[in-house]
Amino acid sequence: MTRRTLIAGNWKMNGSLAALGELEAIAAAAAAAPGIDVEVAVPATLIAAAAQRVPALKIGAEDIHEEDSGAHTGCVSAPMVKEVGAQFTIVGHSERRSDQHETSHDAYMKAAAAHRHGLSVIICVGETEAERLAGRAERVVQAQLEKSVPDDGDASWLSIAYEPRWAIGTGRTPSHEEIEAMHAIARAKVRQMIGDTALDMRILYGGSVTGDNAGSILALDNVDGALVGGASLTAAKFVPIIEAGA
Ligand code: PGA
Repeated sequence: MTRRTLIAGNWKMNGSLAALGELEAIAAAAAAAPGIDVEVAVPATLIAAAAQRVPALKIGAEDIHEEDSGAHTGCVSAPMVKEVGAQFTIVGHSERRSDQHETSHDAYMKAAAAHRHGLSVIICVGETEAERLAGRAERVVQAQLEKSVPDDGDASWLSIAYEPRWAIGTGRTPSHEEIEAMHAIARAKVRQMIGDTALDMRILYGGSVTGDNAGSILALDNVDGALVGGASLTAAKFVPIIEAGA
């Protein structure tokens, strides 16, 4: 069982054509770390330009629609993002869940659509602060996994990102013990659902990952990488995270 570390960036609603120079420096750091995988999800408007500008870096979408085409104003589909160079997509991010009221079932449908079109997928799960304080974090994450992870006998295209909502963009992170415990629970849950292929699936931690805390978080059991928001926007902040994972 060897799981390659995956450091994934998520630019969210940030970035512009002028910011793509950051990806060149990120790609250079990725090339200097051949033992790990590095990828960056960018806004749909930037996928084509990013994929052309840094062909060596895996560029992805931050979300896709579950259908391939149709009357869905403002949405983009898996074949659309793939055509312009995306190689993966994030689904079920907590900001989609809160801003667009998306459910774990929506994440399931989107993950399945992405897989049909050959994109790899990061499915995000994570509890709110109220749920953690109420002692319900584990059950919430297990239920999200239960509803969002497709079972097709092979998880090589799939990663899970455990992102406690209260840790996203806040500068706060769970303790190392809490991260390890949740990742072990998530792996056990997915193994129960899809069998031993879950042992090959990467489980990323996300939520206020920085160059300062990445090394100790990535060293934890069952932590196979990081999903990084704010600190992925510039090479100055993202490269130290890549180096910590290398
Ligand atoms: P953050 O975001 O690194 O800015 O906390 C993580 C995420 O939302 O994926």
